[in-house]
Amino acid sequence: RAREVVRARLTRVGAAGGATRREIAEAHLAFLDDPVLNEVAGEHIAAGKSAGFAWRAATRSSIAALEQLTDARLRERADDLLDIESHVLMALAGEARPMNLSLPQNAIVVADEMLPSELVSLDRANLKGIALSGGGPTSHVAILAAAMDVPMLAGLGPALREVPTGERVIVDANGEADVAARATANAGATSSPNAGTGPHPGANSGLLLIAPAADAFAKAEQHAATLLVQRAADRRAAQSDCRTRDGTRIEIFANLGSIAEADAAVIAGAEGCGLLRTEFLFIDRDRPPSEEDQLEVYQAIANALGGRPLVLRLMDVGGDKPLNYLPLPPEENPALGLRGVRTALRYPDLLRTQLRAAMRVTPHGIVRILLPMITDAAEVRAIRNFANELQMQLSLRVPVEIGAMIETPAAALTARHVAAAADFLSIGSNDLTQYSLAMDRGHPELARRIDALHPAVLELVALAASAGERAGKLVAVCGGMAADSAAVPVLIGLGVRELSVVPAAVPALKRQVRDLDIRECAALAARALEAESAADVRALVARAKNLPGGLR
Ligand code: PEP
Ligand code: MG
Repeated sequence: RAREVVRARLTRVGAAGGATRREIAEAHLAFLDDPVLNEVAGEHIAAGKSAGFAWRAATRSSIAALEQLTDARLRERADDLLDIESHVLMALAGEARPMNLSLPQNAIVVADEMLPSELVSLDRANLKGIALSGGGPTSHVAILAAAMDVPMLAGLGPALREVPTGERVIVDANGEADVAARATANAGATSSPNAGTGPHPGANSGLLLIAPAADAFAKAEQHAATLLVQRAADRRAAQSDCRTRDGTRIEIFANLGSIAEADAAVIAGAEGCGLLRTEFLFIDRDRPPSEEDQLEVYQAIANALGGRPLVLRLMDVGGDKPLNYLPLPPEENPALGLRGVRTALRYPDLLRTQLRAAMRVTPHGIVRILLPMITDAAEVRAIRNFANELQMQLSLRVPVEIGAMIETPAAALTARHVAAAADFLSIGSNDLTQYSLAMDRGHPELARRIDALHPAVLELVALAASAGERAGKLVAVCGGMAADSAAVPVLIGLGVRELSVVPAAVPALKRQVRDLDIRECAALAARALEAESAADVRALVARAKNLPGGLR
């Protein structure tokens, strides 16, 4: 009965809000009916335990299993489970969770963790920001906060508990606060990646300023007011296409992992989806999604995009993204093992199912297929053979476009061959940085040094960009580097003509690109390639910004 009560509430909540809220309510409904959870709870009940004990034991064992995973996005699902656990326990106790928590004016909510249902139950009118000691930037609550346009900092650590209730704080989610304001702020400030723009190496990082001096506080308030005006203007301007000052067309796309984000992307002014991470659409399954399951989701995303191009990346599974329904053997070195296109070619049935679903999306031609973890041109040709075979089966007139991700140094170094085999290239700078610097992209101690502006990474980007240009193939960047404002002029200077970023970053990126001049970018990129370190490249870009008539 408790599950029924929660089901009815979640259905109501899902129906009352926007697409993000609906999607999260649906994810929670799936947990509520999860066969494993219910089986484990049933076993405890059969052993004589109370329903509450049984439900908690079942959710806790699943949470413990999730927390073992190395992929942050999968780990963060634990929050959702915790949320559904407490809903059911409350319902068992005959209470309904309060759904409208009132807040004082200009409130910053400080907590260890926050559950999606808690966020949506906060009084939006007074909520100015959120600071969490735990959590990560890719959790559902972070996605929701970004969709609600609430600045949020996550992963600030236990020192956050020392902040007394009622203290003045500044949540600087973009790392934009005036340097003077930072200098006058009290110690104890910690930073974390900005939830709104997603994690990207070396990019602006957030900052929490505790008990700042009065003038710093006043400055921050003024800055926040200016930002609001600026962002409203950016959003209005984001609906038109994007050209540099000299008229060079740069397409600004969005990276997506859900249907809700597709809606957000269109509102934000994205001109298409440059990376649909399809592995995230089906992570909660026990069985592989069928062709029809996949078609339904891909078509919904295509519909939300309203005819804009949809670059659908084949499932990048294996390595640190394990799937319940694909028990791969354990890897000694997962980042260097069976992942991406290697897994696809190893399991041709799964590959065919996904390709067929993608190729059936209508109108035909808007879906382009992107291949993760390419190491040579032969892999692109192998996938194209599958696609050709399916094109005949499906009686499609136009062949589907096939793009290669440039994520390994090998693909960048042989980019002229890869570009000949593919229809377009898309640089996955997150992995390209990890593999060229030999630094695990999830390593907390190396986080500051994993910087895509390292000249070694830039050399590889330059090789891919010039190979694409010579072959007449579009070169995009879909890794976090595309949303790093210091990297943008360098990438454009190297010849990149499409940038794909989290939806929330689209409007500001369009503004930045419209202010650039292609020749200035090319000159800056040439100097960046000569630099000794990522820090030197960042300093170069910063200096260029300060020149009269220079990059803005
Ligand atoms: C990348 O590696 O830059 C990329 C876009 O793919 P992912 O982050 O999903 O590995
Ligand atoms: Mg990658």
